[in-house]
Amino acid sequence: MNFWDQAYSYTPPWDIDQPQPVFIDLLNRGEVQPGPLLDVGCGTGENAIFFARNGFSVTGIDLSPTAIRLAKQKAHQHHISVNFYTENALMLANRFAPATFTTVIDSGLFHTLTDDERPVFTDQLAKILKDHGNYFMLCFADKEHRPSGPRRISKEEIHHTFTPHFIINYIHDAIMLSNIHNPPIQAYFTSATKL
Ligand code: SAH
Repeated sequence: MNFWDQAYSYTPPWDIDQPQPVFIDLLNRGEVQPGPLLDVGCGTGENAIFFARNGFSVTGIDLSPTAIRLAKQKAHQHHISVNFYTENALMLANRFAPATFTTVIDSGLFHTLTDDERPVFTDQLAKILKDHGNYFMLCFADKEHRPSGPRRISKEEIHHTFTPHFIINYIHDAIMLSNIHNPPIQAYFTSATKL
């Protein structure tokens, strides 16, 4: 059982029973192009199910088989169709053909990656996204000073990591909900477009 699978033997702090509000706002602003959408590191699938409910053809992948099992159960209960797979975000191009997705969403995956994993991840993303496809990412911000949780990310790091394959449209101040943070986590919400 891997570290992430272990985390799902109880309800982890990030596993809230609703989509993250930033993704609802994103959809309401009309920034998500029609077309296939991938939720990378989807956990138990709240964000994936939200987009599927709103008419998108959605795929969700996660390294944790337990999270994927829970996500499938949830989708089934809600009569929503989503393709959920146990898969490594660092090996996306092994499963998906080039340019499969118009949009990739990332709610709390990027901030778990090591320095070495970051360029591997962006490379994989660039392969499976269509040209001019978008990547939307929510992560812990460097202005979140409470202890515990994943790495804190600076705007400079986001620019540095994604500029080889993407242009950054914006990095907005945002909040991320969790089961243990009150007030919510100080986060950044990034919109990037594949060059
Ligand atoms: N997006 C979900 C989960 C966020 S927590 C939500 O918003 O609730 C980060 C998730 O990334 C965990 O579910 C973990 O299992 C997954 N993860 C971590 N490393 C991964 C990797 N290399 N490939 C795929 N998923 C990964």
